[in-house]
Amino acid sequence: MNLSKHLNHNIFSTLSEVTDELSLESYVIGGYVRDLFLKRASKDIDVVAVGSGIALATATAKKLNTKVNVFKNFGTAQLVYKGMEVEFVGARKESYRADSRKPIVEDGTLEDDQNRRDFTINALALGLNKNNFGELLDPFGGYKDMEEQRIITPLDPDVTFSDDPLRMMRAIRFATQLNFYIDDDTFAAISRNKNRISIISAERIADEMNKIMASPKPSIGFKLLQKCGLLKIILPELEALKGVEVKYGIGHKDNFYHTLQVLDNLADTSDKLWLRWAALFHDIGKASTKRFDHKLGWTFHNHNFVGGKMLKSIFKRMKLPLNKELKYVEKIVNLHMRPIALVEDTVSDSAIRRLLFEAGEEVDDLMTLCEADITSKNDEKVARYLKNFKIVRQKMVAIEEKDRVRNFQPPISGEEIMATFGIAPCREIGDIKKAIKDAILDGAIPNEYEAAREMMIKVGTEMGLKIQNP
Ligand code: ATP
Repeated sequence: MNLSKHLNHNIFSTLSEVTDELSLESYVIGGYVRDLFLKRASKDIDVVAVGSGIALATATAKKLNTKVNVFKNFGTAQLVYKGMEVEFVGARKESYRADSRKPIVEDGTLEDDQNRRDFTINALALGLNKNNFGELLDPFGGYKDMEEQRIITPLDPDVTFSDDPLRMMRAIRFATQLNFYIDDDTFAAISRNKNRISIISAERIADEMNKIMASPKPSIGFKLLQKCGLLKIILPELEALKGVEVKYGIGHKDNFYHTLQVLDNLADTSDKLWLRWAALFHDIGKASTKRFDHKLGWTFHNHNFVGGKMLKSIFKRMKLPLNKELKYVEKIVNLHMRPIALVEDTVSDSAIRRLLFEAGEEVDDLMTLCEADITSKNDEKVARYLKNFKIVRQKMVAIEEKDRVRNFQPPISGEEIMATFGIAPCREIGDIKKAIKDAILDGAIPNEYEAAREMMIKVGTEMGLKIQNP
């Protein structure tokens, strides 16, 4: 098979000329070739040279009139040209020892280099010399596996996964991104080697998790992680949601599958990575708050707050970002029961104002999650809830336009209260500010300076404070 017509970027013709000028062999390999077949646009090109990758990179960069970055210690080089990033490496042979993740690396042939690739679909190469330009070199049948949508290792999967256990995560990530299946033997080897994941850093695992989360249907990955036993190791809190308990003939829903359904629903409507994480964690507090009540049946009281509290240690352990991303996910998880409560009651303006105030900028995302959280099989119920959420959203827009509480800033500052009553910092200042805020949120006064100042004077006077400059 020849794919030269797909190598029409002038990077490839230049690479071809330089390769022959230097009397080397070179190939495009890995993800770029895979993505050509899958018709996924890719900006990363990996080039393998049989010989010096650095020499090839340097001469190519010169011809293209661009800069080259050389990493001598690794024997690699990189250049960027017209938005494409090209990585160069010499073909290598890798051998692993049982006690280390670091392989012994030697120079090798193209075939050696293909042998060290993780999956057959990632081991495809296209020739770049003039005599084989665009020719597919596919020793492991990766093309057929692509057609059959299969993830399979080129060599014995136990060896592949034991050598570099991150590949287990990569297998599941590719299956999720591409909606491919994992070959039975390959999957069985993941189950057998799962404990080896402990030698992989949390950061690298988090990278793969983020790619699973960003996929069109993230549940595929989590079901596979659960089935092979990796989930119990990486995220036991999620595994703990699995299963249905029945007491006196009353069962509850399986919160693991419910969570995955919510995540997929959300992925259909939002690409926001951290909102997807919030969906994954929204019910994480349900395992520890589950109780059976003889009147109410199964309850999960305060699971939102308990879940919110669990997040910091989960994020720390998984090396997920602890700043604004954690705060955002905590906020959404803590508040995720609020909109549903608004739907069930006749909605008062003040309840909406309070939710706008507490959710702030995140209120739209919160509503999006709550809409995704409706997983009932009863179509009538789903339609009714969605309709009610729509009404809540409309009311939010109307109230926000009028009262602007989403980014609430107290109209009266602490300094003004101190100056008005001639007092030093004390508890009363906080009490007055809270009284003003509550009055605005309850709709007793408008969110305006004059009304707030009047309120301050009234509350302060009732406390026995005296105005300094009436
Ligand atoms: P993506 O671009 O979607 O992140 P990718 O696998 O194409 O995925 P890289 O992670 O940059 O991108 O890997 C490039 C190539 O290097 C892969 O196609 C594969 O051939 C090889 N590779 C990467 N990681 C491993 C690994 N852990 N074990 C074996 N081969 C690997």
